[in-house]
Amino acid sequence: MASTLPDSLWTATATPAASYPPLEGEERADVCIIGGGFTGLSAALHLAEGGASVVVLEAGLVGSGASGRNGGQVIPGLKLDPSELEAEFGAERGARLTDLVGGAADFVFDLVRRHRIECDARQDGWIKACHSEAALRAASHTAEEWSRRNRAVEAIDRVRIAELTGADAYIGGFVDHRGGVVQPLSYTRGLARAAQQAGARIHERSVARTPRRGGREWVVATASGSVRAAHVVIGTNGYTDLAGAQGPWPKLARTVVPVYSYIAATAPLSDDLRRSILPKGQAVSDSRRLLRYFRLDAAGRMVMGGRGRMRESSDRSDYASIIASAIELYPQLGACDWEFVWGGKVAVTLDHLPHLHELAPGVHAALGYNGRGVAMATVMGKVLADRVLGRGAPAFPESPLRPIPFHRGRRPVFELIVAWKRILDRMEGVHRRGRP
Ligand SMILES: Cc1cc2nc3c(=O)[nH]c(=O)nc-3n(C[C@H](O)[C@H](O)[C@H](O)COP(=O)(O)OP(=O)(O)OC[C@H]3O[C@@H](n4cnc5c(N)ncnc54)[C@H](O)[C@@H]3O)c2cc1C
Repeated sequence: MASTLPDSLWTATATPAASYPPLEGEERADVCIIGGGFTGLSAALHLAEGGASVVVLEAGLVGSGASGRNGGQVIPGLKLDPSELEAEFGAERGARLTDLVGGAADFVFDLVRRHRIECDARQDGWIKACHSEAALRAASHTAEEWSRRNRAVEAIDRVRIAELTGADAYIGGFVDHRGGVVQPLSYTRGLARAAQQAGARIHERSVARTPRRGGREWVVATASGSVRAAHVVIGTNGYTDLAGAQGPWPKLARTVVPVYSYIAATAPLSDDLRRSILPKGQAVSDSRRLLRYFRLDAAGRMVMGGRGRMRESSDRSDYASIIASAIELYPQLGACDWEFVWGGKVAVTLDHLPHLHELAPGVHAALGYNGRGVAMATVMGKVLADRVLGRGAPAFPESPLRPIPFHRGRRPVFELIVAWKRILDRMEGVHRRGRP
């Protein structure tokens, strides 16, 4: 039932794992946190630093959800532009939200420095690469909105993007100089160590059941113990359905669509190849409907990600389209050895925003990062901690719990949508190549 950590580039190169014992018997704490990824561990760290006693329950191992598997791109901002946030939440709230999400990457790099987390962190920028005129118009608008607010986001043209990416497939985009990369599993393990050093107790291989009222407290049971706490924080994101109806809050799983993202990584590239690909070391996400995201790791491996099948897979044939799209962008990778393939679940929301809920008095949850959780889930852990500690004005709006209709039947519908988006992306690629 528990999520395990698949073999990947990150498991092969991460800082060593600490071992945290399963929960045995009854423990008491101010806060019981369910989920040992960025959300749960950042909440644990900030709660413990704020003086609360904290127990973290992780079904598998620290980082065995998306936090230990992702592309490691530290991306500031949400999919919505600042003006869209202001239109949605009002001028004052929207402006505060813009500050919060715009500062998300800085928040990660500050934490890394403050806790001396060894995770190959580099804040060299993040590139949005556009494949079509419509996408370029939207990206130029985003860049203009951020730079008007004095944030370091720079629109770039066809020549500059070709220089920065080493690929000729893009017609422009922007560089967000606030962004960067980390080794995500090392970063997760570093957050766990920092939380533990601040006093949090972490238990791995401890699947939490739905919290139940026990007098004035909540009781969170596992197979071999229970935690009594005044507050519960749920940070289970794309893995919320892990334990089914026994899981942390059955309706919560139906508020997000878990979508698989797959990654393939080469062996370290030769110096010549490395110089021809991403020469300035930025991470890239492109604008296609089924977006490609890519970067180099610390040893100069090409790490390419994209939409996967609707299942967990280590079957190399399932990664053929990811590898093909890397070679389409960089034909010089044609003869490379692809050393690692792995995937994981991204939690998508229908409004493209992360969601913060108070599910019952004292039970809080944040999820739905839409593939941008390295920075945003770390920030939401702090937002959750501040809520529990009663600190400051709420920085992130709370949403009602809205289960998505026909959630159970989503798999075939999603496969169809993915196939259709793939066709549209291919058609646009053909038109572009056909142009002089
Ligand atoms: C392949 C891939 C690539 C990605 N690339 C990027 C990227 O480059 N940049 C970016 O910003 N984002 C990226 N993301 C998204 C990002 O990884 C996530 O948004 C982020 O990790 C979410 O963190 P989290 O702590 O909320 O959830 P997770 O890290 O998924 O952690 C949830 C944890 O909850 C545990 N859990 C579930 N149920 C229970 C239970 N009942 N009891 C106890 N524990 C439980 C799970 O075992 C899991 O460890 C990617 C995701 C994937 C899968």
